[in-house]
Amino acid sequence: MLKDTLVKRLTLLVLLLAVLYALFLYLGGKPQLSRESLNALSVVPSEKTYRLSFDRPVRRVEVFVEQAGQRKELFRADMSEPSREVVFSLRPKEMSLREGKARLVLKASSGFLQGRSFVIETLVDFTPPVLRVVAYTPSPSVGGSFALKVRSEEGAQVSLTYGGRRYALYPIGEGYYAGLFPVRIEEPLHSAKVEATDRAGNTSHHLLSLKVKQVKFAQDDIKLEEPLIERVIYPLLGQEGKGLGPVEAFKRVNEVWRARDVKRLEEIATKSGPKVLWEGAFSQLPNSKVLAGYGELRHYFYRGQKVSESRHMGFDFASVERAPVPASNSGVVVFAGDLGVYGNTVIIDHGMGLMSLYGHLSEIGVKKGQFVKKGEQIGWTGVSGLALGDHLHFGILLQGYEVNPKEWLDPKWVKTHITQVLQAR
Ligand SMILES: [Zn+2]
Repeated sequence: MLKDTLVKRLTLLVLLLAVLYALFLYLGGKPQLSRESLNALSVVPSEKTYRLSFDRPVRRVEVFVEQAGQRKELFRADMSEPSREVVFSLRPKEMSLREGKARLVLKASSGFLQGRSFVIETLVDFTPPVLRVVAYTPSPSVGGSFALKVRSEEGAQVSLTYGGRRYALYPIGEGYYAGLFPVRIEEPLHSAKVEATDRAGNTSHHLLSLKVKQVKFAQDDIKLEEPLIERVIYPLLGQEGKGLGPVEAFKRVNEVWRARDVKRLEEIATKSGPKVLWEGAFSQLPNSKVLAGYGELRHYFYRGQKVSESRHMGFDFASVERAPVPASNSGVVVFAGDLGVYGNTVIIDHGMGLMSLYGHLSEIGVKKGQFVKKGEQIGWTGVSGLALGDHLHFGILLQGYEVNPKEWLDPKWVKTHITQVLQAR
């Protein structure tokens, strides 16, 4: 009897311990690695920063690579503070690994008996992608445009870094990539860097040297008279103009609104598609005169004192009042509506980051998303926005920056500086 009870009690105790141990494992749990982290480990390039995230804080992480029956330690960390994220940089190329298939073993532990191993099939790839500059516009102008065509691997990410900005090149098939870029007036730099990154994360780069041609832009002094501010500025500002003096009101539109609208152009530019929709040169508003050119620096005076300035970033074409405006080239309407200083505006995307802008319209005749052929009517000229008389503000945008339309209106320039670069092999 007594012996029976003892066996029963012992069995119960063992069961209880087993349940407690299971509960302990369940509650404490073993760390799980996120899917993104597993993906990041599926390739091992010559160097890479890994960011591993776990579903719970981990105390220790070890990473080994197994190749040809050998195991090497790649990384080990013992955290004083448990963390859900572990970041480390590796230079596996310097660890004498061989290119090809390998197996990674990652051990992560969040505490006593709470470790887990992950086995990841991986590919060691140290070979940087091929990168050949096929052609580019060697001597663009300040405020002008240049084209670039390179060849790399299919599936690579190819970019151009120029003046602190990084632009993606568009894949155009067979491993070719191309793009069109502005030489910003405020940043006419002579060198740019092309970079290609393959799927594994290996990169190749090439420096481009540009002989940027200087351009002398016109200067213009403009007198601000009260009747003009009453007629143009206050109606434009509406409620926003309440309580503002004439100079403040003018500065609000010419500086605050302009900066905001220029930013909006950059946002709109991100909607450009990879397909080239334009053909040949762009065309000027029919039967029009050029009222103002590109790059003109305007100084505004009020009662003899300079109060503001702005640079004119397009061409002003004047024809008759409410003249019909045709599309200067073929493309897709990406914007049709009010755009602050530009007034009623249509923006057409011609592909590869190239767009044309039609401002100060009295009426818009197209809708966003609509495809328009060169010559098709898109609206009528007017005085909407910051305009003193009926005219068309015509802008050419590259990656959201208004470049000199003069180049794009010239068939010979378009052929020698753009088309030939894009067609080169
Ligand atoms: Zn203008």
